[in-house]
Amino acid sequence: MLAHVLVLVVTQAPNPLWLPDTPNACESCAGWNRPHPPVHVFGNTYWVGVEGLSVVAIDSGAGLVLLDGALPQSVPLVEASLQQLGREVKHVKLIGTSHAHYDHVGGIAKLQQLSGATVLASSSTAEALKAGCPTRDDPQAAYGCETNGFPRVTRGVRVVRDREVIKLGALSLTAHFTPGHTVGATTWTWRSCEGSRCLDFVYADSLNPVSADGFKFAPIAAAFRAATERLESLRCDVLLTPHPDASETLARLTADAGALVDGQACRAYAKRARQRLDARLASEK
Ligand SMILES: [Zn+2]
Repeated sequence: MLAHVLVLVVTQAPNPLWLPDTPNACESCAGWNRPHPPVHVFGNTYWVGVEGLSVVAIDSGAGLVLLDGALPQSVPLVEASLQQLGREVKHVKLIGTSHAHYDHVGGIAKLQQLSGATVLASSSTAEALKAGCPTRDDPQAAYGCETNGFPRVTRGVRVVRDREVIKLGALSLTAHFTPGHTVGATTWTWRSCEGSRCLDFVYADSLNPVSADGFKFAPIAAAFRAATERLESLRCDVLLTPHPDASETLARLTADAGALVDGQACRAYAKRARQRLDARLASEK
């Protein structure tokens, strides 16, 4: 959501072994990582993130699925939230990824280590996870791995295809590629029921044209626009986003139950994304 500019706290000579294991410090990280109580959203769906970063937990009946892992330093808070809900991190079987920036996938290596879960990623995201750094075609790549890196995920990554349906227990989770913010950006959808009432959930990836200096969105504008249209085409009763403030997620989840469902939320999110893209393209001319 915000420009991802890290300020590393360097207390010793740079050491390639040191970098991947030490939580990065960044201007926004302390604010993002403030604890937030877990929320039972609806049916099998829970929100176990930190104040500025979403982590979604879905109970398939045959183990948990997490979507995203927030920052490396968020992991103890995610673990505590799962425990408050009577769940254990060791029951996590799958971890889906939105996009490979440190604020969403930084915690995944540790979460995988604690759970043995398989990580689900688009091929571009999988490449970034392996490197512990955004791919070279990432709009924010020019910030560099030294400042924009995250703990590498080198094993247990399953590459998913666009529109692939992942089944676990009673859960069917669908991957939708929504490139723009990154090349590998992925949106996830699933259906959650309480008795006879079912809601279609959309965990829509970031769709904003944020980049390091010098990047041009014009060459990828058509794919970016198509991603916004794809988002509008999804069945969408409840919108969740990697940065909760991009969709007033926490306000909706913690207000009375009537605020949760917003049939227009995905369309509004896509429309805002197109407006920002248009403004960005105009500024590139
Ligand atoms: Zn990002």
